[in-house]
Amino acid sequence: MKNLVKNFLVFFLVFLAIAAIFSTFSSQTKTSRVGIEALIQELNQDKVKSLVVSGNDIEIELQDGTLQVAQKEASESLSTLLSNFQLSPDKLEKVAISVKDESGWSYWFGIILPIALPLILIAAFFIFMMRGAQGMNSKAMSFGQSNAKDFNINNKDQVTFKDVAGAKEAKEELHEVVEFLKYPKKFQDLGARIPRGVLLLGSPGTGKTLLARAVAGEAKVPFFHMSGSEFVEMFVGVGASRVRSLFQKAKKHSPCIVFIDEIDAVGRRRGSGLGGSHDEREQTLNQILVEMDGFEPTQNVIVIAATNRPDVLDPALLRPGRFDRQVVIDRPDLKDREEILKVHVKKKPLAKDVDLKRIAERTPGFSGADLANLLNEAAILTARTDKKIIGMEELFSAIEKVMIGPERKSRIINDKEKKITAYHEAGHAVVAHFLPNSDPVQKVSIIARGQAGGYTLKVPTEDRYFHSKSDFMDEIAVLLAGHLIEKEVFGEVTTGATSDLRRATSIARSLITDYGMSDVLGPRTFGQKEELIFLGREIHEQRDYSEKIAEEIDVEIHSFISQATLKAQKIIQEQRDKLEKVALALLAKETLEKEEFEALLAAA
Ligand code: ADP
Ligand code: MG
Ligand code: ZN
Repeated sequence: MKNLVKNFLVFFLVFLAIAAIFSTFSSQTKTSRVGIEALIQELNQDKVKSLVVSGNDIEIELQDGTLQVAQKEASESLSTLLSNFQLSPDKLEKVAISVKDESGWSYWFGIILPIALPLILIAAFFIFMMRGAQGMNSKAMSFGQSNAKDFNINNKDQVTFKDVAGAKEAKEELHEVVEFLKYPKKFQDLGARIPRGVLLLGSPGTGKTLLARAVAGEAKVPFFHMSGSEFVEMFVGVGASRVRSLFQKAKKHSPCIVFIDEIDAVGRRRGSGLGGSHDEREQTLNQILVEMDGFEPTQNVIVIAATNRPDVLDPALLRPGRFDRQVVIDRPDLKDREEILKVHVKKKPLAKDVDLKRIAERTPGFSGADLANLLNEAAILTARTDKKIIGMEELFSAIEKVMIGPERKSRIINDKEKKITAYHEAGHAVVAHFLPNSDPVQKVSIIARGQAGGYTLKVPTEDRYFHSKSDFMDEIAVLLAGHLIEKEVFGEVTTGATSDLRRATSIARSLITDYGMSDVLGPRTFGQKEELIFLGREIHEQRDYSEKIAEEIDVEIHSFISQATLKAQKIIQEQRDKLEKVALALLAKETLEKEEFEALLAAA
C-alpha cells in the first residue's frame, strides 16, 4: 500500500516535469517574440492580419502568415496600450482582434506549475519524512501493547474437554469455571464471588495449556493467551503496560479467559534473587495483581495461569481474590496414558496388532506431551521405512527414542569397546534382575543411543508415587554394577561409567539431605535449595548446617555407596556365569528383549 502511493507520487512528479519542459519548448518553436514597438510598427505598416489577446500575450498573425508573440503588461488592456502609442484607430479596422479566454487547463498549469512544483516537491519530501517517523512512532507506541493472541470463538478446531484425555480431577475442577463463565447469574444471585484466578500446576507437558484452551472452548468464550516471558522485554515498564493493555482488551470482551502461561517468569517471589530484570518483573507482577483486584463484580473475566514451579511463586499471587483456586495436574497414570494415546492416534493409521495398553505400560513417567511426541516419532519412523501403517515395532522404537535419544547405529566402536559395553550393560541388567526392589529389565542393548554407549531399560510394573530407601539402595547398586564388572573383567574402569557414578552419588546424597533416610543424620533436611536466575539457570544451595554435619553427610554418602557396592558385588560373583552368557549374547545380537534376557537367565 505504502509502495503504491510512493510509486504513484514518483510517477506524477516525472510527468509534471516532462509536461513543463514540453510546454516551454512547444511555445517557442513556432512563434518568435517581438516587442510592443515592433507590433505598433507592423500595425502602422498594415502588416497585421489578426491579434489574439491571451492573457498577457498578444498573439500576432501577419498578412504573410508569420506568427509572433508580443507581451503586454498585465494591468494594461490592449486598447489602452494601443492608444498610449497614439496609433490611429483606422489602422486597427482591418485587424481582427479577439480575446482568448485563457482560464483553461494549460493557462493555469502554466501559471501554477512554476510555483507549485517546488512546493509539491517539498511537501512530498515532508510527507515521506513524517510517514517514516510515524511508522517508528507507532511501533514505539505498540511496544507496550499486549500482543495477546486471542482465539476465535467460532473456530472449528476449538479444543474442548474431550480433547484432553485423563486428568479427571482437573477437568472436574475446571468444569466449575466453565459454569461461572456460562451462567454467571446463577452464582451472583446467591451472592457468591466468582473466582478471579485459577492456577494450573503441573510438570511440563502435562497439558496445562491444553486444559486452559479447553475451558475457553467449553464455555465458548474468547481466550487471550500470553506467556509470562512475553511481558518481560528489554525496556523497563513494558511489561506493566502490556498487562494493562491485555486486561483492557479482556474487559472489552467479557466474558472471557485470560491465560498467562509460565507465570513463574513474572510471578517469582518478589525481593529475592539477583536476577537482572527483577525490578521489571516486580512491576509486571504488581500490575497483574492490581488488574485482578480491579475487576468489577459484573466483569466476568477469569484469569488462568499455568506454572510448573509453584514453589517460586510470590505468595501475593496465591491469596484469596487472586489465584485462589489451584488445580494440580499430575503426570498421567497407566489408564490416562492409554486414553491420551487414544486421543492422539485418531488421525494415524495403526496396524491391527497395535495394543495401546502395552505402550502405556511401557511409558511410566511420560507426560502427555511425551506421548504425543512418541506417536509422532513412530509415524516418522514408519514413513522412513516406506510403510503405510504404524506397527508395534515402530511404537517400541519410538519409546526408546523419546526416553534415551536416537539410536546411533553408525557410531563405530572397536571390538574392545564393544566388549566393555557388553559386560557393562550385562552387569546392570543382571544385578537389576536379581535385586527384589529393582524394576524388571525390559531391554538391554549395546547400540549407542543419545549420550549413552549402551543402555538397560527398566520399566516399573506399575505407576509409583513413593519410593522407599530399599528402592533407592537397589537403584544405586544397579548403577554401580557397570563400573564393578568392568573392574572385575578388565582389571580397570573406563569413562563409560562416569554418569552412572554421578547419578549413584546424587541419589545417595538425596537420601540423606532430602528424604531423611539416614539413620545416622536423622529425619531432617539439609540445605536450602534456591534457584537463582542469574546468567541462565543455576541451582544455588544454601547451607543450613555446620561443617561438622557436612563431614558427616560425606561419610554417610560413602557408607551408602559401600553398602550398595557390596550388594552388587555379591550378585556379580554369584551370577558370574549368567552374566558372561548375557554379555556374549549382547555381543552377538547387540540387543536383547525382555523375553530373551529372561530365558537366558532361567536356562542355567
Ligand atoms: P504444558 O502446557 O503443561 O507444558 P501442553 O498443554 O502444552 O503442556 O501439552 C503439550 C501437548 O501434549 C499438547 O498439545 C497435547 O498434544 C499433549 N497433551 C498433554 N496432555 C494431554 C492430555 N491430557 N490429553 C491429550 N493430549 C495431551
Ligand atoms: Mg504450556
Ligand atoms: Zn552404565
